[in-house]
Amino acid sequence: ARDKAQGRVWLITGASSGFGRSIAEAALAAGDTVVATARRPEALDALVAAHPDRAVAVQLDVTDTARIADVVADTVLWYGRIDVLVNNAGMGLVGAVEETTDRELRDLMDLHFFGPAALVRAVLPHMRRNGSGAVVQMSSMGGRFTFPGVGGYSATKFALEGLSEALAAEVAPHGIKVLIVEPGSFRTGFAGGGALRQSAPLDAYADSVGPVRSGLPESDGKQEGDPAKAAAAILTALAAEDTPLRL
Ligand code: NDP
Repeated sequence: ARDKAQGRVWLITGASSGFGRSIAEAALAAGDTVVATARRPEALDALVAAHPDRAVAVQLDVTDTARIADVVADTVLWYGRIDVLVNNAGMGLVGAVEETTDRELRDLMDLHFFGPAALVRAVLPHMRRNGSGAVVQMSSMGGRFTFPGVGGYSATKFALEGLSEALAAEVAPHGIKVLIVEPGSFRTGFAGGGALRQSAPLDAYADSVGPVRSGLPESDGKQEGDPAKAAAAILTALAAEDTPLRL
């Protein structure tokens, strides 16, 4: 067992890049303890080396639901509890509905829906025991509305949002918060953004965002947002007394 955890204990998926990495960095900067997971934990070596007492990198493919129980059990064994689960791992998928294969849809549902659902199931008993906790669900503006070329991607995020909305009501009496994050376009390793720019003008995307812009500090004009600023906004929202359901 490691030393007793400092600050809150975060379990983050897809922490090797983009939002996941920025959230891990922000949590560490706040003095918290982070179990940073990804399929490529070696990409987290430098982050862990900078905070050897408060950070650990763990291999986790969230579509490997059998492994999820082990990672959750290890986290609780090492640090005694889990305060924040961040279901962040994800990827883009662009294509017409007619051309999107059954395999692609099932794989993306595994990544954006079944994996996060399994993590929630595994983590909640520990949070309920503590009478506190937070689940951050990285959705997308595409989880709120959709447009041509992103039907498959949106469907997986709609599924995650439906689950999360009910979850929020179920766990609120136990002192557990659920925060659904709906980014627009951010500068990360995200495959969807690049492919989207090739397949459809970003202008059309920006126009379709309309009145449901998220509460994240997004881009101004057509520039993509900074994931570090989004991470800071997520930490602020979690710390608030009245954390919103959606950010
Ligand atoms: P990145 O590609 O930069 O990061 C994705 C992360 O997910 C990587 O750390 C990757 O690490 C991990 N990952 C991918 N597949 C798996 C898997 N099967 N199991 C575990 N980890 C996996 O993209 P973003 O940071 O942008 O994406 C994070 C989330 O944000 C996603 O859910 C995405 O849908 C959402 N989002 C992003 C937007 C953007 O504009 N960037 C807009 C809206 C939503 P590794 O390869 O090591 O496993």
